[in-house]
Formats: sequence, C-alpha cells, structure tokens
Amino acid sequence: MQGVFFRTHGGPEVLEYGDLPDPSPGPDEVLVKVAACGLNHLDLWVRQGLGIDIPMPHIGGCEVVGTVAALGAQVAGLSVGDRVLVSPGHSCGTCSACQTRNDSACAEYRVHGLQLQGGFAEYSVAPACDVLRISDRWSPAEWAVTPLVFLTAWHMLKTRARLQAGETVLVHGAGSGIGSAAIQLCKHFGCTVVTTAGSQEKLEKARALGADYGINYRTHPAFHKEVRRVLAGRGVDVVFEHIGQATWTSSLASMDPGGRLVFCGTTSGPTVTMDLRFLFVRQFDILGSYMGAKAELQECLKLLEAGVVRPILDTAYPLRETRAAQERMRARNFFGKLAVTV
Ligand SMILES: [Zn+2]
Repeated sequence: MQGVFFRTHGGPEVLEYGDLPDPSPGPDEVLVKVAACGLNHLDLWVRQGLGIDIPMPHIGGCEVVGTVAALGAQVAGLSVGDRVLVSPGHSCGTCSACQTRNDSACAEYRVHGLQLQGGFAEYSVAPACDVLRISDRWSPAEWAVTPLVFLTAWHMLKTRARLQAGETVLVHGAGSGIGSAAIQLCKHFGCTVVTTAGSQEKLEKARALGADYGINYRTHPAFHKEVRRVLAGRGVDVVFEHIGQATWTSSLASMDPGGRLVFCGTTSGPTVTMDLRFLFVRQFDILGSYMGAKAELQECLKLLEAGVVRPILDTAYPLRETRAAQERMRARNFFGKLAVTV
C-alpha cells in the first residue's frame, strides 16, 4: 500500500511517501480502508519523538475514517463495506479503569498513530471493539476531524471539570481543533463562552460557533483584564487550557474563587511558574486531562450525527501532501482542523 511514514524522528523533512507492506488484521482486529485521517499536534510530537517506543517505520495519524476492508476471524457485528470511524484510544476494556469509564488511565492504553500504526496510509488496522459505525451525515474528511478533539474536549469539560449549565468558561484558541470543539460543547451544555484567538477573522468564526465574547490575545496579551471587562468585573468558573506556558498566569487570573483550570496540552511550552498563595487562597482546582473514554466518544458521535455540533474542517489535503499539511499545522493560519484524504 501507499503511505506516509518516517524512519527516524525529526522535522517535516523525515516524512516519506511510498510503498509500505500491506497490513493484515489479527483475529480480533479490523482492516480499515482509509478514506480520510485528521491531523493533530500529537502527530508532530510523535514525529519529533516523545521518548517512548513506537513501531518503525512509523505511520502517524490518530483520527481514521473509512470502510471495513477485512475482518479478523473472531470479529462479529461488522461487515465488509461498513462506513466506520476508529476510536483513537485503545484500552483493555476489562480493568477497573476501563469499567469506570476512565479508559485513558488503563495500563494498556494505546493511541492510534502513536503506539499503533496510524491512518496516513491506504489501510489501517484497529482493534474491532474500537471500530465504530457512522452514517453519511458528514463527509469522510469531516468525520475524520472529530474523534480526538471532541473526545478530549468532552472529557475535559464534562468529566474532569464537571461543567454545569449556567457556568462561564474561558476557551483558549478558538481557531484550534480542540478550541472549536470546546466552544460548541460548552454551548450545548448551556454555558457562557469567552474565547481567545489571534485575529479578528478567527473571533468572528468563533462567534458563529456560539462564543459569546471574543478576545484577541495579540492586542490583549494580559487577556485576564479583558475577561473581567467583558464579564462586568467577574471572572470565569472554568478555564479550558491547552496552550500552557504563554497563557498559564493570565488563565489563573481569569478565574473567580473556586475556579477550575482544566488542561490537556502545552503547545507553547511545558514549564510554568505559579504563586501558590494565589492557588490556596482562591481555592482553585488544577485538573490534568488526557484523551477520554470510548463511552464519551460515543456521546460526541451522537451529537455529531444529530447535527448539534459539527466538524470544523478547514482544508483536506491529498495523502501524498501530508508533509505540507503538517507544516501548515505549525503555521496556525487556518480555522478548526486539517485532514488528509486517501
Ligand atoms: Zn483497561
């Protein structure tokens, strides 16, 4: 099959497009003919090297959508030709973490395109229990930009931060995949959304998704002051963080006492300093979050099928242009998500 892969870690230049061995499914696995695969910052981190063992040559791509091409001998409930989406997180399904909808705490938790070969190729193999049927409500490229970002945003907001209707949330990065998913989920949960972005154009698109207030972080780097200005002196109940170093201090300063800061990433850098007095006096919660449970993904897919929330696809690239797509990820000159189609 044709695919995009790397033999050593490094920048976009290590990506190659060419022949790879055809994968075949094990007894409880499914071979998916890939139609589209979403891009994520995780793809760049995996390519650059995370210090963990991954199969080499490595195929990235966590968000796989396509059709069933072949079934392992023990697989039931799926047929060749079914339209499917692969749940990006794979877990054992039987341990106490899996039984309590905490899949990403499973000792055997693996991510598609990270510990497993991913979807930047014509075919991808996945555990049958993680191959979920989808409708034709959205195009393959649109479906392919949903699972990782909606799952992560749902787990952060609903499970970790225990978001309640009527609360106010600061969502960073309206133009990012995760930010555009979070804005939509917050509105679905009945919350007020303040969001940040680096341009007026992105803020206008965020408004169209339902954001109540937009702050341009380039013209307002001390954005917490702007948060309190638009909220008439109040702060937010929850901050949805994935930026890290560049935003951390102002994010904490944006919260009212009792606020919860939930975070899933550090795209601007992982090292922060904090005045601990500020944390205990204001009784803040700081909540780490990683991926989510398949049951949570299924809740998101129901909302997508119903059109309550929608995929935010900026551009779909042909598979052979995966390198150009990954270079564009870094440039951030797009709204929502990028995908490749096969
Ligand atoms: Zn488990």
